[in-house]
Amino acid sequence: MLQAYDKPAVSCGRQGLARPAQVVIVGAGMAGASAARHLAEAGFAVSVFDKGRQVGGRMATRRDRETGLRFDHGAQLLRAHGPAFRDRLDDWRARGIVAPWDAPGADAAVPDMTAPVRDLLAGLEVHVGRTVTGLTRDAAGWRLALAEASEVRVFDALVLTAPAPQAERLLGSAVPGLAGLAQAAYAPCWSLMLAVPQELPFAGDVLRPGDGPIAAVFRESTKPGRSGGAPHLTLHASPDWSAAHLEETPEAVQAALLAALGALLGTAIAPIHLRAHRWRYALVTGTCGAPCLYDPAARVGYAGDACLGPRVEAAYDSGAALAGRLAADLG
Ligand SMILES: Cc1cc2nc3c(=O)[nH]c(=O)nc-3n(C[C@H](O)[C@H](O)[C@H](O)COP(=O)(O)OP(=O)(O)OC[C@H]3O[C@@H](n4cnc5c(N)ncnc54)[C@H](O)[C@@H]3O)c2cc1C
Repeated sequence: MLQAYDKPAVSCGRQGLARPAQVVIVGAGMAGASAARHLAEAGFAVSVFDKGRQVGGRMATRRDRETGLRFDHGAQLLRAHGPAFRDRLDDWRARGIVAPWDAPGADAAVPDMTAPVRDLLAGLEVHVGRTVTGLTRDAAGWRLALAEASEVRVFDALVLTAPAPQAERLLGSAVPGLAGLAQAAYAPCWSLMLAVPQELPFAGDVLRPGDGPIAAVFRESTKPGRSGGAPHLTLHASPDWSAAHLEETPEAVQAALLAALGALLGTAIAPIHLRAHRWRYALVTGTCGAPCLYDPAARVGYAGDACLGPRVEAAYDSGAALAGRLAADLG
């Protein structure tokens, strides 16, 4: 399924080359989108493939069909620590793609958490619902095997942005320049989406208990640009609780977290919608130790939060860093 944002493909050429170098990017989360945007601006032709039904990766939004309510069940808040992402956030704020929420210096995306990634990918060639199952390289370049359809093109360079363990599995044999992938570590997160007849009794947009099974509860209804409906919230379990209950069924997790929330607030909760989602690779706890990884001999690179830390900004900066490495190598 080609999901073209505005126009189907990058067509800009690079000076001195007969054709723009073709880069294939696996993953349309923030790292893949940042790499794609920076590469396109540098004159590369980019093709992005993601297994999800929509772009965004862990900047994810799920719509409940029955109630129509939307839940950002992955990342919640955008903050900038460095100048590049600060500039990007300023631009998004000016264009209404993010808006302040919860605390000074924090933004939520508008109308949902996928919006910034969609903006970066606007006008580029993006395929969603495409699971990359194999990657091979020969003298002509990189070839992709897909679960859903065949891809006949050969690409000059490959960018991987799936969480590090998944990227390692895809590559199969080790690539020396990507050895740092093995250092990456992640904590999991169980995320609970719930809608209730009346607002739950806590002050502000976000409840952060400080300890116990619940890391935070976010009021989806108070985020900027949301369309209303019943009060609805997303709860994130703590990393320790999520790890201890990682292999339990969603039903068991839903019941346990609902009980924990009721105990925390001192009230029985009767949800009108309840759903749990498991993020096996949620928050980076150990990084690859470099802004990006790149193997010039194989012309393959890796970008993601696994390179720099557990936040959207890290993924953005890592994608930009890898685009720079590729531009320097292939330019
Ligand atoms: C519950 C939770 C809460 C968070 N809260 C915050 C927060 O408040 N603020 C913050 O800054 N950060 C937060 N984060 C972290 C933030 O979401 C991540 O750091 C960032 O989104 C990672 O982006 P990425 O592009 O590196 O990876 P991802 O977003 O994981 O993107 C990787 C993409 O690769 C795709 N993919 C994987 N394998 C394949 C394959 N074989 N074929 C095709 N596609 C594939 C996936 O579908 C995915 O879209 C949170 C994360 C979670 C899970």
